[in-house]
Amino acid sequence: MKIAVLGGGTAGFIAAAHMTRYFPKAELWHIYDSRIPTIGVGEGTTPRFPLWLDEVTGIGPDELGARCGATVKLGSHYEGWGSHSTGFVNRFQPPRLFGYHFDAGRVTGIISDHVRAKQLDARVVSLEALPSGVAIGFEDGSQLDCDYVLDARGFPAGAWTQAPEDPEIIRMDWIPTGRAMVRRLPSSTETSMSRLIARTHGWIFQIPLRDWTSCGYVFNPSLSSDEDVLADFDVFLKEEQVEPTEVRVRVSFPNFMRRNWFDGRIFTIGNAASFVEPLEATAIGATIMQVRIAQRWMTDHHPQCAPDVGAVEHANRTMRSYVLRNSLFITWHYARGSRWDSPFWNLASRSLERARGHDYLAGHMNAMTDFLEVGRDLPGTEIGTCTEQEKWEREIMPKLTKFIPFGNFSELNFAQVGHGIGYYSANKMSVGDSANG
Ligand SMILES: Cc1cc2nc3c(=O)[nH]c(=O)nc-3n(C[C@H](O)[C@H](O)[C@H](O)COP(=O)(O)OP(=O)(O)OC[C@H]3O[C@@H](n4cnc5c(N)ncnc54)[C@H](O)[C@@H]3O)c2cc1C
Repeated sequence: MKIAVLGGGTAGFIAAAHMTRYFPKAELWHIYDSRIPTIGVGEGTTPRFPLWLDEVTGIGPDELGARCGATVKLGSHYEGWGSHSTGFVNRFQPPRLFGYHFDAGRVTGIISDHVRAKQLDARVVSLEALPSGVAIGFEDGSQLDCDYVLDARGFPAGAWTQAPEDPEIIRMDWIPTGRAMVRRLPSSTETSMSRLIARTHGWIFQIPLRDWTSCGYVFNPSLSSDEDVLADFDVFLKEEQVEPTEVRVRVSFPNFMRRNWFDGRIFTIGNAASFVEPLEATAIGATIMQVRIAQRWMTDHHPQCAPDVGAVEHANRTMRSYVLRNSLFITWHYARGSRWDSPFWNLASRSLERARGHDYLAGHMNAMTDFLEVGRDLPGTEIGTCTEQEKWEREIMPKLTKFIPFGNFSELNFAQVGHGIGYYSANKMSVGDSANG
């Protein structure tokens, strides 16, 4: 079997290491263009990443911490969100689960030790279906034929433009953010939680690594200029008694997904396939799901056989559901506004209402209503403060009823966020009701 991974960002290295681990006899190519930089952000993970890293490389938290200053993430601390604005935690549960905070560049360096592939530094200009494979076309006119391609070349050009005539791209226009500015601040003594702080133009993330804290302001560029945001960023740092540093990254991002990330030969993965704003740090987890599906596909299907159309659609439906549901859960965080009364929060608190306008979300929104109801009956604060596995098994687990996820999230996440933002303090409400509605 001949497999090519395109892209040298986090998604490309995860895919190349995964293919190395599961298909040691395959002819594996890892191809990326060193003239095109990686996105340079993506520093918090869900528990999917440590589980994957351990499985594929054998590296655990002590080694990752020692080699590149990664820290263990137990969840996120929200500050200033919701109708109470009192602060709450969305902790990974059960307590034995954890994610990482890391520097993406340094971690891909470590993952690269576990990639055995023919490396090619070249620009890919075309992917063309062959009767039993894919032809990869390069800038210099040469071509490489493979059985399968994992395409992790970053955001596609089509994700940016408002092109309703392009049915292949679903633009998640219900998400209220689209740009971020990121700084590097001194390290902090508290490293177990990402901080997510509501501000007038959006929200600020703080990701505490061993040697520094990554701090980004996420906002809506059609409502606020970079200058306005930087001014509030500086006010925030002053409040925190931290010296402002220069802005390291200014990046706009599309909230989008490809309707079909897989066509039977090409798996489009990472930012090339979808992106939902970084509030719950779901992107790397989605990449891991994609490489696992790719692995299963390559194991179960002979490369010379024509792909089974029904099975291809099943793979596409699975990822569509996963990403759209994640986007709805993330959108719901805004439903009770924040301590700020500003154009951003007016728009953000109506995000679920905007989602309701899309017919293809109706089934997912109905499914979400069940999770909202279950979350109401669970003790959100108790779940957020439970740190012992034994206590969790004794006191929290017997209260659970669903045991299935909604995208990446469970009833435990719904309970923590719902009680945290004050969603349940009001009368019984359905998906799409907002702080102002
Ligand atoms: C503000 C912000 C914060 C984020 N925070 C998080 C977070 O906390 N957690 C999380 O999981 N994710 C986060 N993300 C998402 C994060 O960007 C991705 O998880 C991750 O970086 C994956 O990127 P990638 O590898 O898909 O693409 P990229 O990093 O863009 O890499 C693309 C690669 O493809 C190569 N390439 C491009 N075109 C060609 C071509 N034509 N030929 C050959 N090679 C090519 C490039 O050289 C590069 O190596 C965040 C994103 C943003 C915008």
